[in-house]
Amino acid sequence: METVIPPSPPVLLPVAGSRASFPVRRVYCVGRNYAAHAREMGHDPDREPPFFFQKNADDLLPPGKDFPYPPRSSDVHHEVELVVALRSGGTDIPVDAALDHVYGYAVGIDFTRRDLQAEAKKAGKPWTAAKAFEHSGPISALVPATTIGHPVNGGIWLKVNGEMRQGGDLAQMIWSVPEIVAELSRLFTLAPGDVVMTGTPSGVGPVARGDLVTCGVDGVAVLTVQVV
Ligand code: MN
Repeated sequence: METVIPPSPPVLLPVAGSRASFPVRRVYCVGRNYAAHAREMGHDPDREPPFFFQKNADDLLPPGKDFPYPPRSSDVHHEVELVVALRSGGTDIPVDAALDHVYGYAVGIDFTRRDLQAEAKKAGKPWTAAKAFEHSGPISALVPATTIGHPVNGGIWLKVNGEMRQGGDLAQMIWSVPEIVAELSRLFTLAPGDVVMTGTPSGVGPVARGDLVTCGVDGVAVLTVQVV
């Protein structure tokens, strides 16, 4: 293939128990998918359903890499999330067929420049600068659904320097994984390699340079990230 500039390298995530990696296409994120987190952000989950935004594929930070504190913010927050990776896609996927499209799962962090997000919300502007910055999506190795099945409950938690900050259960998700995949497929054409961050439980808060962040989804994976 002849290109006029060098093509970007593919974004590859490690797969637990495999030498082969998972190539990422798009990264979708669900906003306010846990009622307690919606409330802590000042919203009423009974009146406002979850919604979608995106990160870039190359914002994902593979396991074992440090998270560099980003520029233009002094209030970067952690949001621990169950991550879903798709093996196939389509449009108008029925809820009861959605899990057939799931390759596997991981735990990830939706790092957010909360100060920029607050400014954007106030001005009715998009969240791109708050959400889709370099290294903003640390993620564990993917665990195939053929190994662990499809988790519907289990603890989802995050510690900063050993202190518990976020603790919830996958059962608290307002939209389940099949519902998320079905809803996304009504808005977009999903494809192999698409990754979905499914929202965060309550307890979000700031990190600082030097912090050691550890998070996990019980039965799926644990991830440790150093903030530098
Ligand atoms: Mn999030």
